Amino acid sequence: MIDVQLYRYNPECDDVPYMQSVTLPEAFRGRMVLDALEYLRKLDPTLAYRRSCREGVCGSDGMNINGKNWLACIKPVAEAIVKSSLLVIRPLPGMPVIRDLVVDQTLFFEQYKKVQPWLITHDQNPPIERLQSPEDRAKLDGLYECILCGCCTSQCPSWWWNPQQYLGPAALLQSLRFILDSRDQARIERLSNLQDPFSVFRCRSIGNCSWVCPKGLNPMGAIGMLRRELMRDAI
Ligand code: SF4
Ligand code: SF4
Repeated sequence: MIDVQLYRYNPECDDVPYMQSVTLPEAFRGRMVLDALEYLRKLDPTLAYRRSCREGVCGSDGMNINGKNWLACIKPVAEAIVKSSLLVIRPLPGMPVIRDLVVDQTLFFEQYKKVQPWLITHDQNPPIERLQSPEDRAKLDGLYECILCGCCTSQCPSWWWNPQQYLGPAALLQSLRFILDSRDQARIERLSNLQDPFSVFRCRSIGNCSWVCPKGLNPMGAIGMLRRELMRDAI
């Protein structure tokens, strides 16, 4: 059997959160953590977590698995317990828990909205569609693939300390994605919105964000590039 420690909290009946001890059949060693949760929820239908696609695309099932944020649907149980025989599942850290493994991501998405994650253009009604060369399109590689799972922001100590002021790695990676887009015409406004001591410059370049990104992206590198864009703009 595989021993599991599962974070449980139902504010309607629990005074405080607690870790529930449960077990999984050995066969789950070869399955994903989400499969394990589905099994456990059949035994206890009160267990709450988010999930949707189960393919690592929707970003719904970000959670903390043995200390590292990851998507439950693409994290093999065997890999998670390689250093200990215990599987420990907690909600994403730094975000208020609504119930069990479900966290409140309101602030995370407010910060995403703050960077205006859409193309802004000033010349309305162009005669033809806005074309982009293959070279300019390639500049978005490593940025556009972000699925907004929140794993990076939730694992970022700078965001834990200043969640209201520091935008966090996911929003900043998305900001760079639009600043570098050759079709966007709001580079100056976007950069000036970030010119304060907190929004970007609270990043301490420790790299927790890049360590956990389940899509293999490099938010820390993106923030470094964003800093260079800000400094270039200020000169
Ligand atoms: S950068 Fe990676 S970890 Fe962060 S939200 Fe996007 S996909 Fe998730
Ligand atoms: S590198 Fe920056 S954004 Fe990434 S975890 Fe560290 S402080 Fe947070």
